[in-house]
Amino acid sequence: MKTATLNKGKEMKYLNGYPLIDDEDVFAHDHLKEGDLFLLVNDKHQFIATAYVGRQHKGLGWVLSYDKDEEINIRFFESLFETAKEERSYFYNIEGTNAFRVFNGEGDGVGGLTIDNYNGHFLIQWYSKGIYKYRYQILNALKNVFKYTSLFEKMRFKDAHIEGGFVDGEVPEFPIVIEENHTFYNVDLNDGPMTGIFLDQKEVRKKLRDQFADNRYLLNMFSYTGAFSVVSAEKAKVTTSVDLANRSRSLTEENFGLNAIDPKTQYIFVMDTFDYFNYARRHDLLYDTIVIDPPSFARNKKKTFSVLKDYDKLILGALEILSPGGTLLLCTNNSTFSLKAFKKVIKDTLNRAEVDFEFSEVMGLPKDFKTHPHYKPSKYLKAIFVNVQ
Ligand code: SAH
Repeated sequence: MKTATLNKGKEMKYLNGYPLIDDEDVFAHDHLKEGDLFLLVNDKHQFIATAYVGRQHKGLGWVLSYDKDEEINIRFFESLFETAKEERSYFYNIEGTNAFRVFNGEGDGVGGLTIDNYNGHFLIQWYSKGIYKYRYQILNALKNVFKYTSLFEKMRFKDAHIEGGFVDGEVPEFPIVIEENHTFYNVDLNDGPMTGIFLDQKEVRKKLRDQFADNRYLLNMFSYTGAFSVVSAEKAKVTTSVDLANRSRSLTEENFGLNAIDPKTQYIFVMDTFDYFNYARRHDLLYDTIVIDPPSFARNKKKTFSVLKDYDKLILGALEILSPGGTLLLCTNNSTFSLKAFKKVIKDTLNRAEVDFEFSEVMGLPKDFKTHPHYKPSKYLKAIFVNVQ
């Protein structure tokens, strides 16, 4: 097997369990090709870990094992899958929810690989060419450990010449319907990079429905298929969903319909967020809860939006149409935007606007999105409910 030698003084980080091998910590890596297994050794050639090459987030690859004798084969993946399954027994047995993450990358022991269960239809996502080289072993292990009706895959790396799509089982007719905390959503595993629902927001949706929707006017920005609106609609006075993409309208209407809510009773706008802020202001509209869950980057005509630079503008826009005593639900899934930095932007912006506020709930990923204790970026999701006076 190939080896990669750590630069002097760099071993502590990896002995302490950091799973992503930084290019710069390794003496030379030109001999390492995507998918190669290698031994990570210190400058005295002592074994630290077995890893594979899968370039992601400026990393060279991920640690797979700290046991020198462990072979990376079907059995290795089976054993990790079995553990992941045991740890999620709650989700396999719960009433009213049938969609959740089955295996979450480095959190479950293999960076670069995620597996989701959408009511028995599985989606496997490959985040590097390197991990894709283990496809045969991983698919076999998956089949041996899990029962699924169908299996689909998506490529999450650049220059993927292979297209994702159907892999195994019976081809379902899309959309399929999933249930989450007793609400239904359409899902299509074979339509571009997204699936119709972001499973990592399940607890946030529940919290919104249970505590911040009752009898409220709710505005959902960047609404996509309307999940935050759909989950709230039964309790809210009325929901308003805003998204720039044309198709968001029909997808949102269908999700309302699935839950026996007449879409005609709810508002849906196909519009730019900032244009909607202006529209709402001009029409003196006020909302009691405003959900802001934007993509990390977006481009509309000549304008670009980046959560890292522009989040304050979203908050200020929302403040102008928020009822006194209202709630903002502010989210970002950007792993480079730390919780600390995100909180600071929120606090600084609200202080600048001279409003009194309190953080009511600070939420992150649900349990099925198991994170790695020594790898902070794996806790990418931040969702903060802010009550504003
Ligand atoms: N909040 C959603 C997920 C958002 S995905 C959920 O809970 O499911 C990001 C969405 O932002 C996409 O649907 C995209 O069309 C929309 N979007 C991107 N730029 C936008 C803009 N400037 N104004 C409104 N929507 C925008």
